[in-house]
Amino acid sequence: MYDLIIIGAGPAGITASVYAARKKMNFLVVTGDIGGQAAWSGDIENYTGYQFITGPELAIKFEEHMRKYNIPVKEKEEAKEIKKTGDLITVRSAKATYEARSVIIASGKKSRELGVPGEKEFKNKGLTYCATCDGPLFSGKDVAVVGGGNSALDAALQLIKIAKQVYIINNTAALGGDPLMRDKIVNAENASVLNSANITSILGDKMVSAVKIIQDGKESQLAVEGIFVEIGLIPNSGFAHDVEKNQVGEIKVNCNNETNIPGIFAAGDVTDVPEKQIIIAAGEGAKASLGAFKYLVSNKF
Ligand SMILES: Cc1cc2nc3c(=O)[nH]c(=O)nc-3n(C[C@H](O)[C@H](O)[C@H](O)COP(=O)(O)OP(=O)(O)OC[C@H]3O[C@@H](n4cnc5c(N)ncnc54)[C@H](O)[C@@H]3O)c2cc1C
Repeated sequence: MYDLIIIGAGPAGITASVYAARKKMNFLVVTGDIGGQAAWSGDIENYTGYQFITGPELAIKFEEHMRKYNIPVKEKEEAKEIKKTGDLITVRSAKATYEARSVIIASGKKSRELGVPGEKEFKNKGLTYCATCDGPLFSGKDVAVVGGGNSALDAALQLIKIAKQVYIINNTAALGGDPLMRDKIVNAENASVLNSANITSILGDKMVSAVKIIQDGKESQLAVEGIFVEIGLIPNSGFAHDVEKNQVGEIKVNCNNETNIPGIFAAGDVTDVPEKQIIIAAGEGAKASLGAFKYLVSNKF
């Protein structure tokens, strides 16, 4: 029986764990990976205290901070269900069932899929959802980035330094996202933006060799060896059946990070808190941990 279980070890979960350790709570972290989306980010220029740091470097710093407190972490273990019965909350993964008096859900978001023929077959065979992780594999090759928002721009900015040619396939009339990032892409010699274009299928033999696109009603084929899908993110909240969510699946929280179920808190990108940023997720994780501590004390657990 734990005081607290933290689900997820991205910026929100890691910060929650540091605060829980400092409150000497008896707790456990159950997580798919360590670092979360922060580890996928390219250049980070908006985390206070670091004028510039790469995503993977910041994720390592977060992990080092967590390890300093010898926090027990069940890695590569995802929560499949969370249930409250009386005062007891159970968290079930594929490997075990854990019991606690309180839980913080900090499971963040995952990439949205394209849903076109060829996507499943070519996943990790040229098609990827992470430019930071897989970009270096496409050195000197022609690649496509699918999307037109900040995630797509971030991926394209990383890839113009690595790939030969980067096509940005955007299904709206103009690129969105941050104007500074957009300008860098538009001015890059090896980047071409295809607006109002949709991918209809992914082609290849063992590996990706091309994408079929439809643009202004005309279908064409673009020869690429890499496809980076950057069309947004969806919350990892499916396992929290009884917790109240908004229409896009984000967990509803109040300003104390409480969900509709007493003892179950949530923090970071998985919640309906406006703006999804590392510093916000970290701050929300700290608040959730302090909230869980107060909940345990006030209920005399
Ligand atoms: C390409 C890209 C670039 C970005 N650039 C920036 C930037 O420059 N500056 C900035 O501030 N923000 C940036 N962001 C946003 C930022 O990374 C997120 O807001 C932040 O990481 C959210 O933190 P989180 O802890 O809430 O969730 P996440 O980072 O998504 O972490 C979620 C954690 O939960 C785990 N998990 C998921 N499901 C389960 C489950 N069922 N059971 C157990 N564990 C689970 C995951 O393995 C992971 O450890 C960027 C995001 C992307 C994708």
